[in-house]
Amino acid sequence: MGYVDSKFREEPVSAPNEKKTGPAVVPAANFLRNIIERDLEEGVYAQRRWGGTPGDAAHHLAGATDPARIRTRFPPEPNGYLHVGHAKSICLNFGLAQDYGGVCHMRFDDTNPEKEEQEYVDSMLDVIRWLGFSWENNATSHLYHASNYFDYMFRAAQLLIERGLAYVDQQSAEQMRDNRGTLTEPGKDSIWRERSVEENLRLFQEMREGRHAEGSMVLRAKIDMSSPNINLRDPAIYRIRFAEHHNTGNLWCIYPMYTFAHPIEDALEQITHSICTLEFEAQRPFYDWLLNHLADAGLFSRPLPRQYEFARLNLTYIVTSKRKLKQLVDEKRVDGWDDPRMPTLVGLRRRGYTPESLRLLAERTGASKANSWIDYSWLEIALRDDLEEKVPRAMAVIDPVKVKLINWAAVFGNESRDASVAPAHPHHPQMGSRHFHLTPELWIERDDFQEVPPKGYRRLYPGNMARLKYSYVIQCIGCEKDVDGNVTTVLAELIPDTKSGTPGADSVKVKSAITWVSASDCLRAQVRLYDRLFVDAQPDSRTRNFIDSLNPNSKRVINAYLEPGLANAKPDDRFQFERHGYFVADRKDSVEGAPVFNLAVELKDSWTK
Ligand code: ATP
Ligand code: MG
Repeated sequence: MGYVDSKFREEPVSAPNEKKTGPAVVPAANFLRNIIERDLEEGVYAQRRWGGTPGDAAHHLAGATDPARIRTRFPPEPNGYLHVGHAKSICLNFGLAQDYGGVCHMRFDDTNPEKEEQEYVDSMLDVIRWLGFSWENNATSHLYHASNYFDYMFRAAQLLIERGLAYVDQQSAEQMRDNRGTLTEPGKDSIWRERSVEENLRLFQEMREGRHAEGSMVLRAKIDMSSPNINLRDPAIYRIRFAEHHNTGNLWCIYPMYTFAHPIEDALEQITHSICTLEFEAQRPFYDWLLNHLADAGLFSRPLPRQYEFARLNLTYIVTSKRKLKQLVDEKRVDGWDDPRMPTLVGLRRRGYTPESLRLLAERTGASKANSWIDYSWLEIALRDDLEEKVPRAMAVIDPVKVKLINWAAVFGNESRDASVAPAHPHHPQMGSRHFHLTPELWIERDDFQEVPPKGYRRLYPGNMARLKYSYVIQCIGCEKDVDGNVTTVLAELIPDTKSGTPGADSVKVKSAITWVSASDCLRAQVRLYDRLFVDAQPDSRTRNFIDSLNPNSKRVINAYLEPGLANAKPDDRFQFERHGYFVADRKDSVEGAPVFNLAVELKDSWTK
């Protein structure tokens, strides 16, 4: 399981141009596309106007026809770091807008006065840009903060009160809970439900002025206490909270509930397709109820935004709740939010994931209405598929044993080294070549020598020949051991005239080619071998504590011997270490001339064995 225990496979002498197939290469089904295409065909939004900034009906009607054919939004709460699940939502919202001539708004849903940190805001904007998306369109920045809409929300609540559609309720929280009813029983009307419009307006104003204590009253929508949908049983829409807000300071002591605020934010921004995850499905009737009444009241114009729900991305072997990710960081189970084992986007970026690979995953998982689990391997396959044709190769020895070429002087005389050249990429000569040297002492993988070979073993064992990749064929003649019987040095003879790329290369037939680096002319570098952070496919399934599922061997730091050219690797440069996997020069810890490498993904999945 995992990198550490994985065993090398035979490397065929001439590597075939094998094509790895990932999951569905054609874009997966995406019902949202069908909806948007139908709306565009029917011209549902063709007459819509855009006032240039978010605003109410009057503001937008004074503007020109909206140049954006659709408007979507990505609305995170700035209370943590974005993760791979958010990447899916980002790709959907920004991607659909891009594909259909629309615009996607970046909106911080910051209506909660809870402490929000600039660190989260900055990181969110940074990774969205990194993913390749932009909230700028025609020199307009569509970066919005929901907390700038508090005046509109207050006005919307007043409009509901004026129309007899909201009331101030003074029941205790407990009474409210008791009177809400259950899935099978209707709720009971509050004794405050029939207050006059005047009294409700006055009390709501007093709430705003801070004249009532937290928890003493809330504003509720007046819908139907016996609705089969509990979300329509007079949901609370405003509560009292004497809390300082990062944007509005102490201006407000009442704050809108999320389910009330979100539809209004969408309408103010003229969003056409408000895409969210399935847990909001039961909220949609309230979304529509609210916006329709506010349109009737003249605050918004039609056509109104509509909400569509899709199944969230659930990946096995990770957790994505911000709270749980924070716990991993706070308890120092990982080395921070950007630890390369974290499913955060800053973590995945440091691990070596590319924006392209994450967009590929989003594309391949499509958008559906049914919740499901996607195997973690899909993420890794997307990365391999992206890097395979793009990144240069290099040789690396991770678990070294020394080889001495005992007939060096007989073959090369006084020469201390022999030049080797290899293509940077086996299929793309335009990527150039790598240069390094064969020397009398080398490092090879410990695994590539067996004193007593198991059946079928074709690499080095006494008497057997193998090719040193891009160089000569050698024949093993034995080994040296320490007092404990551990092999310290493999002894071999170089077979003259068998160098790769020379006419004699095929004169001796061998069954394997092994990777190597010169012991005197290599780069010694720190390499971090990462494995999955959890050993269980569903670490936070309800019955267990996800901390108990942590993989104790998810990180191993070693010093490896690498091809000397890797000394020039810059932070974020990616390579395929031949026969091992894809590695990236760590963006934080690499220094000029001394890169540190992270294992991004192995060449083959070692978890399915
Ligand atoms: P958490 O519960 O961890 O705080 P959240 O869903 O509340 O996460 P938000 O910041 O509110 O986080 O999310 C922003 C957007 O990202 C929302 O529209 C949400 O639906 C979407 N999103 C979050 N997680 C996923 C996921 N796993 N797959 C797809 N979309 C997601
Ligand atoms: Mg949330």
